[in-house]
Amino acid sequence: MGATDAFTYDLHCHSTASDGVLSPAQVVQRAAANGVSVLALTDHDELAGLAAAAEAARAAGIRLVPGVEVSITWSDISIHIVGLGVDPENPTLASNLDCVRSSRGRRAERIAAEFDGLGIEGSLEGAYAHAENPKAIGRAHFARFLVERGIAPDVATVFRRYLARGKPGYVPHQWADLADAVAWIRASGGRAVVAHPGRYKLPRAELRRFFGEFKAAGGEGIEVVTGSHSPEQYGEFARLAREFGFLASRGSDFHGPAESIADLGRLPPLPADLKPVWHDW
Ligand code: AMP
Ligand code: MN
Ligand code: MN
Ligand code: MN
Repeated sequence: MGATDAFTYDLHCHSTASDGVLSPAQVVQRAAANGVSVLALTDHDELAGLAAAAEAARAAGIRLVPGVEVSITWSDISIHIVGLGVDPENPTLASNLDCVRSSRGRRAERIAAEFDGLGIEGSLEGAYAHAENPKAIGRAHFARFLVERGIAPDVATVFRRYLARGKPGYVPHQWADLADAVAWIRASGGRAVVAHPGRYKLPRAELRRFFGEFKAAGGEGIEVVTGSHSPEQYGEFARLAREFGFLASRGSDFHGPAESIADLGRLPPLPADLKPVWHDW
């Protein structure tokens, strides 16, 4: 590891297999063009993009790490656990993700009912029109529909006004259990990493309790440098990684050129003393 790592590893991004706007091959090509040499595609609760991404990575001469971002509910809060180096063919992982995904359709109907109640009609069909993979239907697809309708100027504004927790278009949802998600990832040979821990706004004591449970369940790492953290949070979560003995990960959480804070591969390096999640790859 050295200075060349700075633009090399990107271990969190999305394609049209979930709520990204680029196809798996386009994501890989963009990553390669940006200088990424090891890329993990981590679609929400979905492995379907990995085969095409692997093929594109072979063509582009970069390494594709098969990944996934599993939605869980912990203490009534939605949290994301990234699995890195999973086996897309593993039946335990695949069948359980299928189960997690299957609840998205009913949730979408409830979200659409909320928008109907706000006088914003046609959102169910509108959201599905933005979802190349209908099984992965999610809030980002609703957000893109509202932008298309001119109801808000951009996706971030839709979340702030309608789709974030506590807003009128938000519906609570029961995702997977923490210990189950970590177990599925491990069963398929992967390493479990807490995605963007700074995004959950957990009070410090709750965050420590969560990290303790995650570690006890077999979780190994946390994202320190991510497009969802401020530079101050890089330092904050670097300290927590040291305290808990977590491996550190780095990923843009790229969803699309017009939407994402961080482009593929465009993040600062991890603090040098942390052990990267890729240390033994
Ligand atoms: P879902 O899995 O349907 O709950 O959607 C979660 C996704 O919504 C995240 O992965 C992001 O793509 C998107 N998202 C969540 N919060 C925001 C936000 N504040 N601004 C933009 N996108 C967001
Ligand atoms: Mn997303
Ligand atoms: Mn996430
Ligand atoms: Mn993500």
